[in-house]
Amino acid sequence: MVGLINRKSEVEETRQNPCITCSGHCCSRNLINVCGYDAWLIARGLSIKPTDFLAFAQLEEEETPYNFQIDGSGRSYYLVLNMNEQPDGSRRCMFGISLPRHQLRCGIYNLRPIACRAYPFVLEGGEPAIKPWALCPQGAWDLNDLDILPLREELGKFQMEFCIYGLVVTHWNKEVSKQPPRKKLDFRPFVHFLMEVYDRLQEARERIPQANWPGIWNRWRRSMARGINPLWSEDAGLNQPPSWKEWLGEIQGVVGNAVDYMG
Ligand code: SF4
Ligand code: SF4
Repeated sequence: MVGLINRKSEVEETRQNPCITCSGHCCSRNLINVCGYDAWLIARGLSIKPTDFLAFAQLEEEETPYNFQIDGSGRSYYLVLNMNEQPDGSRRCMFGISLPRHQLRCGIYNLRPIACRAYPFVLEGGEPAIKPWALCPQGAWDLNDLDILPLREELGKFQMEFCIYGLVVTHWNKEVSKQPPRKKLDFRPFVHFLMEVYDRLQEARERIPQANWPGIWNRWRRSMARGINPLWSEDAGLNQPPSWKEWLGEIQGVVGNAVDYMG
């Protein structure tokens, strides 16, 4: 009987979180794209240099607002987590930890980037959906089994972070694109710039009361569902709560002065 009860709870647990029994395909078959907030959180949270865990990859697909330039050559790149080569020749995220029974677990679970936290979900028209190309075992996730309100809120927060990163990258690219092409590519000035900007953004975040964040994330999600990035909309702050206006003003203030942090 006890065994049966345990077995039932294990099945139930797996139904709500299929990652428990999965071998972690998402950590080994993807390049993990990170934003400035992810880089800052891991670097500051672990007290390590961003270049200890980040790499940059050249863009093959369509350009996005998150692709940074290193010089004025017009080429752009995106930030990714370093991958380690395994004894069998495969590659996987450097933070993955192997457990018995071929399970893979995250060694920085509380600091893992947005791409990992959100996987395999996306927002479609402001509502959570499962990526059709997700690497999860077939049928592993069912939105009906999940608590949608916190998921929706969390995805709104992630969307906000990528919008902020897009603004930071736009300011960086505007300055760097004036520089002559370089023979040796070095992304260290960019990540140094990110750390400076996100240190200041963190100070601004701490000025917003904790209780106001869910409202900000949800408002962000709804705005994006209408196709409006609040950071590029002149009337985004109109008739909105003070904390929303304050946060938008803080972001614009920090990022607007970001050129001062360029090395
Ligand atoms: S591939 Fe899907 S089910 Fe497997 S660990 Fe990643 S998110 Fe979880
Ligand atoms: S940070 Fe963690 S969850 Fe993300 S790919 Fe690496 S090991 Fe996987």
